Amino acid sequence: MPRLRQPNIDAAQWQVNGAGLGRPDLTQADNQVFASHVFGMDVQRQRLPKDVFKRLQATLEEGVPLDPALADQVAQAMKEWALEKGATHYTHWFQPLTGMTAEKHDSFYAPDGDGDALPEFSGKELIQGEPDASSFPTGGIRATFEARGYTAWDPTSPAFILENPNGAVLCIPTAFVSWTGEALDHKIPLLRSMSALSTSAIRALRLLGDETPRGVFTTVGAEQEYFLIDEQYFYERPDLINTGRTLFGAKPPKGHELDEHYFGSIPERVLACMLEVERELAQLGVPIKTRHNEVAPAQYEVAPVFENSNVGSDHQQLTMQMLQNTARRYGLVCLLHEKPFAGVNGSGKHNNWSIVTDAGGNLLDPGDTPHENVMFLFFCTAVIAGVDKHQALLRASVANAGQDHRLGANEAPPAIISIFLGAELERVFAAIEAGEEGQESEQSFLRMGTPVLPRLPMHGGDRNRTSPFAFTGNKFEFRALGSSHSLGLPNTVLNTIAAEAIDMLSDRVEQGLRGGKSVEDAVVEVVREVWTEHKRVVFDGDNYSEEWEQEAARRGLENLRSTPDALPWLINEQTVQAFSRYEVLSERELEARYEVFLEQYFVKLNIEAETAASMARTMLLPAAVRHLASLRAAHLPTLAEETEALVNELADRIRALEHANLDPGLEEMDLARYMRDTVYPAMTAVRETADRLEGIVADDLWPLPKYEEMLFIK
Ligand code: ADP
Ligand code: MG
Repeated sequence: MPRLRQPNIDAAQWQVNGAGLGRPDLTQADNQVFASHVFGMDVQRQRLPKDVFKRLQATLEEGVPLDPALADQVAQAMKEWALEKGATHYTHWFQPLTGMTAEKHDSFYAPDGDGDALPEFSGKELIQGEPDASSFPTGGIRATFEARGYTAWDPTSPAFILENPNGAVLCIPTAFVSWTGEALDHKIPLLRSMSALSTSAIRALRLLGDETPRGVFTTVGAEQEYFLIDEQYFYERPDLINTGRTLFGAKPPKGHELDEHYFGSIPERVLACMLEVERELAQLGVPIKTRHNEVAPAQYEVAPVFENSNVGSDHQQLTMQMLQNTARRYGLVCLLHEKPFAGVNGSGKHNNWSIVTDAGGNLLDPGDTPHENVMFLFFCTAVIAGVDKHQALLRASVANAGQDHRLGANEAPPAIISIFLGAELERVFAAIEAGEEGQESEQSFLRMGTPVLPRLPMHGGDRNRTSPFAFTGNKFEFRALGSSHSLGLPNTVLNTIAAEAIDMLSDRVEQGLRGGKSVEDAVVEVVREVWTEHKRVVFDGDNYSEEWEQEAARRGLENLRSTPDALPWLINEQTVQAFSRYEVLSERELEARYEVFLEQYFVKLNIEAETAASMARTMLLPAAVRHLASLRAAHLPTLAEETEALVNELADRIRALEHANLDPGLEEMDLARYMRDTVYPAMTAVRETADRLEGIVADDLWPLPKYEEMLFIK
């Protein structure tokens, strides 16, 4: 059946979802939906007996284990609240190493023996679940014959209700552990890293003379990029269905050369979809703040107000899920692949990260008193040191097959991890290094007779969009995450390396204090030393340029282009040391992650390669052959010859790819490298010929929607 352009007209049609959400009067309290589906602090206060509420809060604040009797009462209140919201089922909601979320629903209802069914939900069911975990990736931590895994309630991330047109489910955020106590998920290490960082930061704060904060936590706000395309095209393309990216497709005449999409007016259908996504997320207590068109046609971005990293990471998973679910109601599909379209900007995720105290201070905010300046310099220097020491690990924490098209291919940002501080802050460090602090008397503080520090900039000032790790005024923005990433691992790494670096600085400051120095002098001296040791990681130029690659090599920075290059740093000696010292991940748990991510890499490449071979042989080659036959039938030998040459080339390259796809009998890293060095090039070769054929085969014979249709019909 020829593929006609007519369906494009259908694709361009859309309807407001049902009757549309309308515009309620937002001055009426009843119309405010924020957190209406969350068993949050307010609901708990209302519904729990006073003493239970108090004890629960105290438990959370102190971070001690929960009294089982308390759990029964919380479960009771949670169940009643959920039933009122129409939830018939509950699930422990967790984040296995697939990077996605997992759920297994259980009905509240149980037969009561008299022919009726009554809703039941005990504290035990709230606290612990035992999913049949044999099918989750574990990296060999748990053999299938001992398939037990446990989910454990995380009371610090509130339970919520997910709605479906035909019912609702109570979701309880949980951690996922093996029966031997090893973390099988992304939440446990994140929580462990947050408490490690808290301990190190509190020690440092005391050293710097701040007695107030009792705890420190990290915050995260992630800018999420994504594509929306009409679902018709999605379902016409086996590559999108199987792999999330287009394995074929010639460059369209128009891309984003006109720079007309970025921050452009949002197409009405897309905006309608966004509004519904945001409403859903608001109900779940996810504080979405900004939305806009991104650079590529059909690409968009959404970002929340930052939150505690644990809750923020859970909310990020929900954001991805809601984008995907809601898009379908508008006849759209949301693509979260890092590189859905070759030659068109891919999608990343910017991980804004900071360290704050329970007293409300942001330790990465320069502040405007000399004391705040000293603290800021201390913590900022620690981050610089940690990022420099563990640059390769940071790169590894964001490695996946999709990312290789971005980080490894000179697209935002590069595979070399460096830090952008901004000119003002760099000047401050340069002044400290040169021993000039306090000289420009107008801009500096003189304190207790000691020349201390230049006044620090309040705002990051200039920006550098090409930097993978940029200081932006009061936080760092780790820009190298992929669109589909869980925030778990990158933030676990950030927190752990920050904890280690903070302790390293604290040790040195303590030494200075013992030598009789004032706190300010001791800090400035340590900052000077550590800056000098680690400033090689700071770079304010164009991260995409070839000169930077050479310069970075001279500076000894790692340039890890592909996933197989990066992953070994997860189990590198200095990683193992830091992660064991802070009890974030044991060597075995790190190895498990290495194995799981490596396997995901080669399995994904294998799926791509098999999909490409099958599409090329069963869809593209036949189309080209039909075209060739029609040219011959029309007695057009010159055109036929031209086509025949390409058809033969395609057939040859398909055979080569099919051959590469045969089991090479390799394992683990060898298999990953084989995929990268042999299979991927074979796939690229097939694509190259196919894309040229797309340019000459009769339009109605070409079986795949083209880039211009997917990207521009909305
Ligand atoms: P830009 O595109 O300029 O980087 P956006 O406004 O799109 O900025 O996104 C900034 C993100 O940074 C938001 O998600 C915001 O919540 C987050 N953010 C701001 N302050 C902090 C902080 N202290 N800690 C973590 N994230 C923060
Ligand atoms: Mg940003």
